[in-house]
Amino acid sequence: MNETVIEKIPIAISSCLLGQEVRYDGSHKHNAYITQTLGEYFEYTAFCPEVAIGLGIPRPTIQLVQVEGQIRVRGSKDPQLDVTERLQDYARSVVPQLDGFCGYIFKRASPSCGMERVKVYRNGNPLGTDRGAYAAVIMDCLPTLPVEEEGRLMDPVLRENFIERVFVYHRWQQFKRNNFTTAGLVDFHTVHKFTLLAHDEPAYRELGRIVADVGNADLNTFADNYFQFMMQALRKPATRKTHTNVLMHVMGYVKQDLTAEDKQELLEVMDKYRLGQLPLIVPITLLKHYLRRFPDEYIRRQVYLNPHPDELMLRNTL
Ligand code: SF4
Repeated sequence: MNETVIEKIPIAISSCLLGQEVRYDGSHKHNAYITQTLGEYFEYTAFCPEVAIGLGIPRPTIQLVQVEGQIRVRGSKDPQLDVTERLQDYARSVVPQLDGFCGYIFKRASPSCGMERVKVYRNGNPLGTDRGAYAAVIMDCLPTLPVEEEGRLMDPVLRENFIERVFVYHRWQQFKRNNFTTAGLVDFHTVHKFTLLAHDEPAYRELGRIVADVGNADLNTFADNYFQFMMQALRKPATRKTHTNVLMHVMGYVKQDLTAEDKQELLEVMDKYRLGQLPLIVPITLLKHYLRRFPDEYIRRQVYLNPHPDELMLRNTL
């Protein structure tokens, strides 16, 4: 039997999302899309900061509160219970363990794990929002690590954005492990050009200029700065307009080989995609068909055309 074994990508996750009964009331928040669909490609390691710092199950609920201009994590009913430093210290102890991980999926709205928009209270009244105390430290210490919340993963654009970044991060780690040379970095950049273009055209141009100078720089420092810039650009979600721009660029590599009818059909399909009448997978599939007939090595290697497994169907929704 000739079975392809897929190397799963290591991802950290809030324990309750895997179905572990670790919430304050002993319940869980199992998310089937995360465990089943993404679980085919991701290998999860679970962290529950509130259990890890010894709050126990069940435990008193905690919340973010503003006290004298500072955000603290305190017991909702018992303000004497303040776990801010314990959560932050635990997060700092987790950071080195995340070496080799390619993403983190957090539980939304948690005063510990929420990555944004967690309610902050003052004198019992909602005041605004902030990040969970544990998630904030992880994100600050690992600014390039792709992070997302389970709620936002239900949005098709945010979902594709996160998964695409996870795969970019994974390829970057492979490059650093196996081919960490100036030529390797130039190649990494080259194959991600259209991906960058789809997310952030000014960053695509700027990074092109920066990479042209790589020969004059210390590779370690250069690589860190380059990747930080790149991951920041990729956080900007691609839109129908920016994808259409990339599709036109790709078309430029085959159009001289197409008949007038084929060209017309391709342009119509791309326009229907731009107008929201077709999903992205349709023009991409048609372009790939022409690229197989009229191969071009530079385009064939563009990650943009195969950024993540087709089975995830991330480009199939309108
Ligand atoms: S949200 Fe975070 S702290 Fe709360 S139960 Fe889930 S993993 Fe634990």
